[in-house]
Amino acid sequence: MNNGLLYQSELLGASRVQQSTSRKGNQLLRLIRAAQPITRTEIAERLTIDKSTVTENVKPLLSQGILREESLAAEGQKRRSRVLSFTDDKIYFIGVNLGVRHSQVGFTTLRGEITDESEFETPKTASYALRLARERIDGLIRKHPDRALGVIGVSVPGMPDARREKLIFAPNLNWRDVDIASAFNVGKNTRVVVENDSTAAAMYEARLKIKDSEDGLLTNFILVRSGTGIGVGLVIGSEVYRGSGSGRGIAGEFGHMTIVAGGKPCVCGNRGCWEKYASAASAASLYLGDRPPSRGDSVPRFVEIVSKAEVGDVRSRRTLEKIGDYLGIGIANVIMGIGIPRVIISGRLVYGWKFIEGPLNTAIRRSIIGKIDGWSVEAGEPVGSAIGGALEVAVEEYLTTL
Ligand SMILES: [Zn+2]
Repeated sequence: MNNGLLYQSELLGASRVQQSTSRKGNQLLRLIRAAQPITRTEIAERLTIDKSTVTENVKPLLSQGILREESLAAEGQKRRSRVLSFTDDKIYFIGVNLGVRHSQVGFTTLRGEITDESEFETPKTASYALRLARERIDGLIRKHPDRALGVIGVSVPGMPDARREKLIFAPNLNWRDVDIASAFNVGKNTRVVVENDSTAAAMYEARLKIKDSEDGLLTNFILVRSGTGIGVGLVIGSEVYRGSGSGRGIAGEFGHMTIVAGGKPCVCGNRGCWEKYASAASAASLYLGDRPPSRGDSVPRFVEIVSKAEVGDVRSRRTLEKIGDYLGIGIANVIMGIGIPRVIISGRLVYGWKFIEGPLNTAIRRSIIGKIDGWSVEAGEPVGSAIGGALEVAVEEYLTTL
């Protein structure tokens, strides 16, 4: 068994050959998981590798009972073909999404369905939040004595440490130095992996898109998650990018880049941060304008603004259009810095997509990115990527150990 081959080989500065071998292996397992049940021929075609390489890779996993192969008649075809899929009776995974407003704990297997999801309001203190999540984790473990818990994946609205065991800082929760791995330690055979929520959402979106795409890879894209704040997940060369050296874990903190000099104060201590203008949560203050809400003024929720816009309310539409403009300005900046022109938006903001999309594209076209061909911004999942992302972190970690 190898504990995170890619991660280790990066640290040890191992040869490129070794890295690319493990990368191919990871991609193959990801494709099987995303597109299961799938034939060996289809895997070979989508990854442009030999069928013999596929066979070589899946053989040990078949004999270990991690994968299974069965005959299945394809729709409208007489011939039955042999298809591969993951087994789900031996191992399971727990995901914990610690959100700014709500947190979820969920369960999944290698087959991919999310079940047993439960939600609670995120309390103010980290210690209480971890206790509530831990109770639910213990409950799931008691419920499944027949299977082994593989990995606990945790997504957080902030920066994890380089070892992905702690949360260094979550600005919107004002939590610092939270030792999550210790709080969720259920035994030495279960690893706890902490990941930034946007990076986790990027992993989740990648799997959904791989399922529907023609080839087996979603090589390069930027995920912008806009909800209470804004976070950015980066997938470069089919792997998530977290930064390097002492910056490992902080890549993608674009929500706090300044887009309005001297603008609105932000929880991070700066002024004019992107997330004060283009997050779903920023809609309320854009809607109310610069005047402070007077007594009795209710602060509208994002989905309420969207519903009003849908029935023609001009102020609500303008609010969403403004968000689209600010979002586009920031996205153009991110594309310029990273050089990856494919962007997927996820989070609550997606609910207002039809009003946001136009002004967003206009803002990008205004920038230097508008001069290049082939950039795209598409809407992803509004909510599923939260718990889905946390579970994806857990399963990804497990796949790298196979
Ligand atoms: Zn900020």
